[in-house]
Amino acid sequence: MILILSSNTNQKSAEYQQLIEYLTGLVGVQMRVHVERGTEQILTEIYLIGNTKPLDIKEMQNLPCVERVVRVSEEFRILGQHKDDSRPTYFDYKGVRFGQDTLNVFAGLCAVDNAEHVEIMLKALRDNGQVCTRMGAYKPRTSPYAFQGHGKNCLPFVFDLAGKYGIKVIAMEITHESHLNEIRAALQQTGNPTGVMLQIGTRNTQNFELLKIVGRQQEFPVLLKRGFGITLDESLNAAEYLASEGNRNVVFGLRGMKTNMGDPHRNLVDFAHVPVVKRLTRMPVCIDPSHSVGTRSAAPDGILDLMHITAQGVMAGANMVLVDFHPVPLKALVDGPQALLLKELPHFLEDVQIARDAYLKRVALAQRFAQ
Ligand code: PEP
Ligand code: MN
Repeated sequence: MILILSSNTNQKSAEYQQLIEYLTGLVGVQMRVHVERGTEQILTEIYLIGNTKPLDIKEMQNLPCVERVVRVSEEFRILGQHKDDSRPTYFDYKGVRFGQDTLNVFAGLCAVDNAEHVEIMLKALRDNGQVCTRMGAYKPRTSPYAFQGHGKNCLPFVFDLAGKYGIKVIAMEITHESHLNEIRAALQQTGNPTGVMLQIGTRNTQNFELLKIVGRQQEFPVLLKRGFGITLDESLNAAEYLASEGNRNVVFGLRGMKTNMGDPHRNLVDFAHVPVVKRLTRMPVCIDPSHSVGTRSAAPDGILDLMHITAQGVMAGANMVLVDFHPVPLKALVDGPQALLLKELPHFLEDVQIARDAYLKRVALAQRFAQ
């Protein structure tokens, strides 16, 4: 059960103390207080865990400071979408809204190779009205002999260039807690010219210790990729780890599943799960067509599979698109074969917009028929 308190509740007030005293007296019930400090208000939620079945909703609603009560099911307590749950399905970061109603494109390099390519990429994004990108500095690779990413050495020039081209948010995977400190230090050193969305990759979806560390900080939002060989339920629980440690600014990323059935694509595309994740949770949903499809193959209609599949995800209501581009894919150190070309950026963005418009029309149609 979640007690949502009136905004700006003062933890030193007599009413709050009275509430805490009452809750402490409940037998078999533990509580966890979560405070979210926004720019305009402070929101406090109290999670009651344990034997909450006997608690009467009306009675709880009448307790001091309590504005609303939500009875949650066991699963995905914090990030889940529960009955009569009016908690927000969005968050803001660096002036950009990430929600179940918005759409942001994160086009960029799978892996940072050099400053020249980063600059060409970021300039193209700026020229096409984009404020987000993806830039991999820490690359988890199948082979220990493959390029592992430039790590902390590339961060200062990536952040400086992002600031130069007005990029507000960079999605960047981390694989170890030390990377978090390196990103923090490089942002500080360069004067915080941009923001970072920490990415937990598919190989680390169930790295619980990493999840706990990333969940304990609220400075950076997190993009959690679905595990490519585990159930959806297990991946959603991984997201809940982040939230249970304190960070609920989480985007859930679909990136395809391993099937080993001779698929034409690198992974089996799972974008049919966009509406499922939106129904089960309050997280915005990201699709990654690049790591799902993995090739630049085109259909007989002349449309790249990558663009077909992006459109499918966006038309199903996706809220974020993470996609690999490269100025010279042949020279890319990671995932060149799946990178889109810079000259394809305006085409890609226009195609995404067509799919988004179609999605919005479909929502309006559904509303009309529901009346
Ligand atoms: C990536 O986005 O660069 C990446 C490695 O993705 P995934 O973890 O989904 O393989
Ligand atoms: Mn990649």
